[in-house]
Amino acid sequence: MSVIVQKYGGTSVADADRIRAVADRATDAKRAGHDVVVVVSAMGDTTDELMAMARSLAPTPNARELDLLLTAGERIAMSLLAVAINQAGYPAASYTGSQAGIITDTAHGRASIIDIRPGRILEALGRGHIVIVAGFQGVSTAYDVTTLGRGGSDTTAVALADALHAEACEIYTDVPGVFTADPRIVPDARKLHAVSYEEMLELASSGAQVLQLRSVEYARARGVKVHVRSSFSDEPGTWITQEDARMGEQAIISGVAADHSEAMVTIRSAPDRPGVAAAIFRAVAAQGLSVDLIVQSGSRDGRADISFLVPKDELDRLEPTAKELVAAISADTYEADADVAKVSLVGAGIKAHPEVLADMFETLADERINVELIAATSIRISCVVRAADEERAVRALHRRFGLGPDGGPLRSHDDDA
Ligand code: ADP
Ligand code: ASP
Ligand code: MG
Repeated sequence: MSVIVQKYGGTSVADADRIRAVADRATDAKRAGHDVVVVVSAMGDTTDELMAMARSLAPTPNARELDLLLTAGERIAMSLLAVAINQAGYPAASYTGSQAGIITDTAHGRASIIDIRPGRILEALGRGHIVIVAGFQGVSTAYDVTTLGRGGSDTTAVALADALHAEACEIYTDVPGVFTADPRIVPDARKLHAVSYEEMLELASSGAQVLQLRSVEYARARGVKVHVRSSFSDEPGTWITQEDARMGEQAIISGVAADHSEAMVTIRSAPDRPGVAAAIFRAVAAQGLSVDLIVQSGSRDGRADISFLVPKDELDRLEPTAKELVAAISADTYEADADVAKVSLVGAGIKAHPEVLADMFETLADERINVELIAATSIRISCVVRAADEERAVRALHRRFGLGPDGGPLRSHDDDA
């Protein structure tokens, strides 16, 4: 029997009517002969609301308790969906992450899946049930309930698809696929027919939250085929696949992404000698902070500035460490600037087309947008700009690289080419 995993995001299960629509889609797949496993997110903005409630009681709620609280959102959605599917005449049962055998490490709020023991799921599928699993959660090796980080239901779905050897992992969301830019910022963005794991990794880490970064890492590592598509229509969406599995000529640029969830931190006038960068990032890592885009300025008088990005909501955690650090390495100051955004251009063709770099900077210059930090991989270029310039930068780059409906010489692997 072929297993299909379907994941529905918060908007797709936001109210009773939408839950009924999800039930219809799940039962359609069952009737088509699949074993069906559905992963659900919390309804609408439930996670944000629960988080706000906890924060109104304590600025930094206890991590274990916060995780228990947040997992309640997905539990509501999962049981309501089971009720709806039962009402439609199909046997269904819902399971929490823990009941579904999703074992994680103990990092509350950003736990990683380390094992899946799908015994109960397989048993329920064997009995002909449609199985519903609460996304975004697991149980730790210390037997506590954990969450997988914002957007983590995507990772639950990919991990289950892998563990159950599913035919595909379908990610149903509120847009019809992965676009050349966030369709909310660029209304004429185009849907991509296929994106390689590598490009999707870069897009996800650059702020295209349509898939959680970790879910893409997991899918790539395990070769899980992911199909991102609309929960409101039947049109085909975007396949995330191996590079060489893509049809036809490849675009130089696949998309533009932006992210304003990170702040820029600068350690000014750090001594420019071996061991200083190690001391800085050892201290940052000890706080469990994720760091992005590190830039060191050229050395002057034996001193250099080191800048990097960290999530804005983790700045408070960094500050005491950073201050101690500045004293310990006898740097000048620690500065944090939350008023920034990162704008990125992603495309497998960048490595063979170095002129793209100049084109990108020229486009930003024409818009009079100042670039404060630059970092590039072989398939991504990221620039840190003022937060107020973010959307203008995205639109200008989208136009410049011919990603819109009229396309240009760079378009190729889209739907309607
Ligand atoms: P869900 O609740 O279904 O998990 P998310 O809000 O996490 O949905 O992700 C879907 C959203 O991602 C879309 O509504 C869209 O605004 C945003 N998004 C950002 N970049 C892109 C992109 N390149 N393609 C598609 N959607 C994108
Ligand atoms: N409900 C969680 C969130 O809002 C997980 C998810 O939706 O994937 O981040
Ligand atoms: Mg999401």
